[in-house]
Parts: sequence; C-alpha cells; structure tokens
Amino acid sequence: MSENCIFCKIARGEIPSRKVYEDENVYAFHDINPVAPVHFMLIPKQHLVSLVEADESHAALLGKMLLLAPKLAREQGLENGFRTVINSGKGGGQEVFHLHIHIIGGGIIPPMVKRG
Ligand code: 5GP
Ligand code: ZN
Repeated sequence: MSENCIFCKIARGEIPSRKVYEDENVYAFHDINPVAPVHFMLIPKQHLVSLVEADESHAALLGKMLLLAPKLAREQGLENGFRTVINSGKGGGQEVFHLHIHIIGGGIIPPMVKRG
C-alpha cells in the first residue's frame, strides 16, 4: 500500500470507480478515459509500481492476473478477443505508477503499431 497512489486508493474504495471484479488479491475497474467501447484495468491490490519492479515473489500474482484477463473480458462482452496493454515505466508511457493491465476491446481495434 502506498499513501499517495491513486490506484491503491481506488483498490481500497477511497476513490470511487466502476468496479468490474474484486477478490482478495486483485481489483478491476473501468478506465475513466476509455480508448474503446470496453476499456478496463486489472490491478493488484498490493502496491507494485510496474513490471520493472516485479520479481519472483510476484510470479503467482502476475500469473493469476493474466489468467483472469480473458475471463473478465468475456464477462464484459469481448467474446471475439481483446487487447492487453501493460505500460512499464516512463519509457513505456506509464502514467499511473501502480501496475495495471489495460483490457481493451469492442469496436474496431487497429493494429497496435503503424508501420511504414
Ligand atoms: P497508463 O498510461 O499509466 O498505462 O494508464 C493509466 C490509465 O489510468 C489511463 O488510461 C487513465 O485514463 C486511467 N486513469 C487515471 N486516473 C484514473 C482514475 O482516477 N480513475 C480511473 N477509473 N481511471 C484513471
Ligand atoms: Zn498503488
């Protein structure tokens, strides 16, 4: 837990969010500024800055999150698939420094990187 972390506060219910899922380890909620018809984030309840700071002690938690993503996506109506994005560190465009998996889908999802 980190005192001034916005996602810790969301996971603790101190800042309101539109909840998608919650259990003892993780919390999922809709992105406030969605880039697609369905856009939610899955976060660990424990404060972890990004994948850069993750180590072996986080292996089970990260595995759980990756396995949960398709279940939650299906529950949100993304039967045809979805995009997952994890921005890690400033160099990866991360803006909120509490690890989160973006789960994005619905509508037209363009190729992630435009070539040439
Ligand atoms: P990042 O760029 O760090 O990967 O993504 C941060 C995401 O958090 C952005 O998509 C942004 O819209 C979302 N976000 C930032 N603040 C809040 C908030 O207070 N509530 C919710 N639901 N989403 C937020
Ligand atoms: Zn946090």
